[in-house]
Amino acid sequence: MKKHNFYAGPSILPQEAIDGTIKALQDFAGTGLSLASVSHRSKEFDAVMNDAVALFKELLEIPEGYSVLFLGGGASLQFAMVPFNLMKKKAMYINTGTWSTKAIKEAKMFGDVIEIKGDDFFSIPKGYNVPEDVDYLHITTNNTIYGTEYFEDLDVNVPLVADMSSDIFSRKVDVSKYAIIYGGAQKNLAPSGVTFVIVKNDVLGKVDHQIPTMLNYQTHIAKNSMFNTPPVIPVFTALQTLKWIKANGGVDGMNKRNTEKAETLYAEIERNKLFKATVTKEDQSIMNICFVMNDKFKDLDKDFLEFATQKGMIGIKGHRSVGGFRASVYNALDIESINALVDVMKEFEEAQ
Ligand SMILES: *Cc1c(COP(=O)(O)O)cnc(C)c1O
Repeated sequence: MKKHNFYAGPSILPQEAIDGTIKALQDFAGTGLSLASVSHRSKEFDAVMNDAVALFKELLEIPEGYSVLFLGGGASLQFAMVPFNLMKKKAMYINTGTWSTKAIKEAKMFGDVIEIKGDDFFSIPKGYNVPEDVDYLHITTNNTIYGTEYFEDLDVNVPLVADMSSDIFSRKVDVSKYAIIYGGAQKNLAPSGVTFVIVKNDVLGKVDHQIPTMLNYQTHIAKNSMFNTPPVIPVFTALQTLKWIKANGGVDGMNKRNTEKAETLYAEIERNKLFKATVTKEDQSIMNICFVMNDKFKDLDKDFLEFATQKGMIGIKGHRSVGGFRASVYNALDIESINALVDVMKEFEEAQ
């Protein structure tokens, strides 16, 4: 039976990216050696790093004056690196859920944080003013756990920083509006182990305090992400995924796929008498689709999960802090998997 991969992260990757990596683990770039055992200083790996950076810039149409980095430490390390590199006194954070909350905790170690938060995390706060004297504004563009998403790039007069761990390459982004975009690659790009950072060079170097070498973006910019040993295998897989994105219509192609997938699944959640969506319509993520049992059918929670799992739907249990169900429908997931999940939801409804 076909397994449909709805895991939130690490998560589905294009089969071509997996196959390309397997091949390189056996024989990397005709060297006769495994990707796992080749120097990151070899000309073959140097080409991988350069190609990955170039394709990243091409696909996101990143303007001049920005650097693309591949680092270790996960998005979670960026929660600290961002304030370490940018905060002089004060920053503003929009708290849209678990990940923003963690980012705020780190930022508070470096200065004052103005926090904007709604009554709950089922919609995105709107209608606030951004004071001109904050060093930056931080947002999380896709809330992987609660399933909300920004669909527009904010216009603000201060440097804008975004955690795009779970929606990078899913839609067009006007990079020129951002000072820093970062994310763990294990949602939409690569296996876990590599973190991407897009940084506008001229926002750096303005803080008075010292920054440890490894935590200073300028270190990694100067060395093309090879100051120390980079996560070689995930960077290689990221390059394969980027090639797949390019071959499948680029970011616009991904957005078309993702919109169709999300519309299909949200429509079924709305139609099916058993289920309801948890997120306000206008903020519903096209990457992480969260839903719960309608009140009348609450007792069926476990039964549905079991039924769906038996039918090959993997990873649809909601995050432990939210409950219910979450289908993560990243770029590589085919519409075929959405249709299969919709069929299972219908079948379960008919059986009640
Ligand atoms: C998964 C995730 C993180 C955490 O990433 P790590 O690489 O595990 O540190 C941070 N932010 C968002 C939005 C995420 O989805």
